[in-house]
This record gives sequence, structure tokens and C-alpha cells, in this order.
Amino acid sequence: METARETKIRWFGHAAFSIITPNGKTLLIDPWLKNPSNPEAKDGKDPLAAVSKVDYILLTHGHRDHVGDAVEIAQKTGAVLISNPELAGNLVKLAGFPGKQAETDAIMGIGGEIQLADGEVTVAMTPAIHSSSVFNPRAGANEPERAYGGNPSGFVVAIKDGPTIYHSGDTAYFKDMETIGENYSIDVALLNIGGHFGMEPKMAAKAAQSVRAKLAIPQHFGTFPGISQNAEVFAQELKKVKVRFHEMKPGETITYRGKLLVTAR
Ligand SMILES: [Zn+2]
Ligand SMILES: [Zn+2]
Repeated sequence: METARETKIRWFGHAAFSIITPNGKTLLIDPWLKNPSNPEAKDGKDPLAAVSKVDYILLTHGHRDHVGDAVEIAQKTGAVLISNPELAGNLVKLAGFPGKQAETDAIMGIGGEIQLADGEVTVAMTPAIHSSSVFNPRAGANEPERAYGGNPSGFVVAIKDGPTIYHSGDTAYFKDMETIGENYSIDVALLNIGGHFGMEPKMAAKAAQSVRAKLAIPQHFGTFPGISQNAEVFAQELKKVKVRFHEMKPGETITYRGKLLVTAR
């Protein structure tokens, strides 16, 4: 009997996810692990203490709630950065991201695809309508508060013998999300539903429909004031467009065996 090829997707709260591939590669997307929703960051615990092996860090854009703890994790693990060149360059210059891990052929642009992990993982950078900037630690009277972060993006992460995952970043809804659904067979869409800075829950459900997601998981809500505090409206709207809904709890892992979701808790 063939052994199961499992992919594990874990949510740390906010926009932060890890993906562990069947071959054991670890990808982190928008790793703000110290966000207040992460159970591992509560009661003075350090969520980075348990982080030892990370192969790739994917950043959708430069905002603080997405870059999160990327620099510290990169320093600790040697992980390679996947982002646009402007964000990568400014993170190296302003935030201390290790240059050797940010100046590789994993730097990419919207519309492009790269292969990682000996071809086990394909990453496509997708458009996002949002903004992107890097906080400047040298900000002062004559230094801007924020540096350029390149174009914001989303990602499609296609795992060989596993699911194809769409992470929307902080985008607004845009009609061309339909093109993402035409080009990729999205098994699971991790969608920002918090509103205010990005998609309101109703439009996030429309996004799930546009990318033809088989399963929609909400993210970027409930973390701080100003964004939606729960996923109820999103769940109701998904029913109308007949897309399966699953709300992860921060800290939860879901497992795929091949393209089949085997645990949703
Ligand atoms: Zn943002
Ligand atoms: Zn955000």
C-alpha cells in the first residue's frame, strides 16, 4: 500500500500560515507569529521558540502585520525569502533581513511562477489591490515613516501530490480573480475577510467563487480593532455561492492527503 502523502496547513492567526509539504519542506506565509490571536504568543510565551526549521518565507506585502517576525525567523532558520524585489531590498537595508537569503532567484514578480524544493512546490505571485510599504526604523524629522514595498500580491502555492492553495494577501476584490480560478485549480483559498483595509466579508465570499475555491478559510479578522471580529457573515455569504466553509482556530492544523482534505480540526 502506498504511504499517504500529507500536506499540513496551520493557521497562527491573522494572515500567518505554515505549509508543510509531503517531502517535509516548511513554508511560512506572512509570519506575524507574535500576533495577539496566536495561542503560542499568549501569557508571555515566545512563539518563535518552537520555530526551528523553515525553508521559505513568503511575504505578500510589506505591512507590519504581514512581515511580522520574518526577519527574526530568517536569521534563526536560514529560510529563503519569496517576495518582490523592492520589498526584499528594503527589508535587507532597513530591517536586517539576511541578504544572502533575500537575494536569490526566489525573488519574483506578479504574473510569474517559480519552482521550489526540487519542483515539489510551484509558487505563483498573483495581483492584489492594496498598498505596500516597509516601516523605516530610521524614521525621523527628515526621514519618511515608510519606505517603498513594491507591489502588494497574493500567492498560489501548488504542492505536488498535494493541494493548490491561494493566499489572497490584503487585497480588495477584483473581477480578474476569475483568471486565477481559470489558471489554477484552487483546492483551498485563504481569504482576508476583515474589511476596512481589504475585502469585506461579502466580497471575500465573491472572491472564493471567482477563484473557484473548493474550500474557503477566513483570515485577517479578529486580530485588532477595526477589522471584522468574526466570520459569520462570510460563512452566510459562502452558502449563497455554494463554496464549502471552514473556520480554523488560531493554532489549528488541517491535513490534506493528496488533494483530499482528511482533517478539518
Ligand atoms: Zn496590508
Ligand atoms: Zn494586513
